[in-house]
Amino acid sequence: MEGKAPLNIYELTRTELTELLQEWGQPAYRAEQLWQWLYEHLAADFEEMTNLPRPLRDHLARHATLQPLQVLEELVSRDQLTRKFLLQLPDGETIESVLMLYERRRTACISTQVGCPIRCDFCATGKSGFRRNLTAGEIVAQVILIARAAREFAPADARPLTNVVYMGMGEPLLNLDAVLKSLRILTDPKGFNLGDRHITISTAGVVPGILRLAQEPLQVRLALSLHAPNDALRDQLVPLNRRYPLAQVRQALQTYFEHTGRRITIEYALIKEVNDHKAQAAELAELFAGLPIHVNLIPVNPVENSPYRPSPPARVQVFMEELERHHIPCSVRVRRGLDVQAGCGQLRSRYLAQSSS
Ligand code: SF4
Repeated sequence: MEGKAPLNIYELTRTELTELLQEWGQPAYRAEQLWQWLYEHLAADFEEMTNLPRPLRDHLARHATLQPLQVLEELVSRDQLTRKFLLQLPDGETIESVLMLYERRRTACISTQVGCPIRCDFCATGKSGFRRNLTAGEIVAQVILIARAAREFAPADARPLTNVVYMGMGEPLLNLDAVLKSLRILTDPKGFNLGDRHITISTAGVVPGILRLAQEPLQVRLALSLHAPNDALRDQLVPLNRRYPLAQVRQALQTYFEHTGRRITIEYALIKEVNDHKAQAAELAELFAGLPIHVNLIPVNPVENSPYRPSPPARVQVFMEELERHHIPCSVRVRRGLDVQAGCGQLRSRYLAQSSS
């Protein structure tokens, strides 16, 4: 194995880890011990694993890594509630992950791809193009890295993270095999034991992915990044809409609800005078009539070289009231962490621009 890149140990499910240790001549209980170090104690060094025999620790250190992601930059917002990490992958690519400490939650927002093929018109990640999918282990490693950072904010007897949202860079449902494998690892009751009700997967509307997710025995929350209530505008803002128009997306969400019984979250980035008219709120309500949804309204993050501006509070209020008049539950999310460029892809874009200049 000399000369090979070390194994990212977070790629392995518990069964795969047990098989690997068996190949190394280790009894099954060693894999259980190692799994606990990885996912209960969040060990960052094999040396911490004091109940593993010295030769096994040395063997692990030679062949595997617990730090597959290098922190290039960590930014903390002025209010201390948002911590953003620019991370480097083993092949030199970069991604972003965020720890959010809002409303007594400790939430990791993680990426699933390097860049994003969806190319939403108002998004820094979309503008940077698509590089590659992340592996399951790269997704899990982000959660572990953020969980380690969250430990100092968690009460002594609480888990470091309360929630994980697959809402960072990339379209999770275009990398669904890796996403599902990461979920299997993170929800393993003998390890990290993340409840699937505390997990949100966001999609721009990849219909086959939504239908496949509906078949999985999971209770994750699904969030649709809608951003426009009709095909004409959505074709422009979220180009994926040309492939999967709203009628198809709505039908897929209906199927998801029928299989899981879980209310769907609709994410709607309010852009001044583009998608924030009162009539568009009514259109949104009509589109989803009969489907249990909750709408999250969030004034769009301003992106450099983009004409899109966030809706001012008065327009947000009118939009929200119109949804409420149609009995659509909704909330307005405060834009936080702007001083750490918490809008998806903004820190990485700045890094890429600096590295190429
Ligand atoms: S908003 Fe999401 S789906 Fe759209 S380009 Fe950005 S990362 Fe991709």
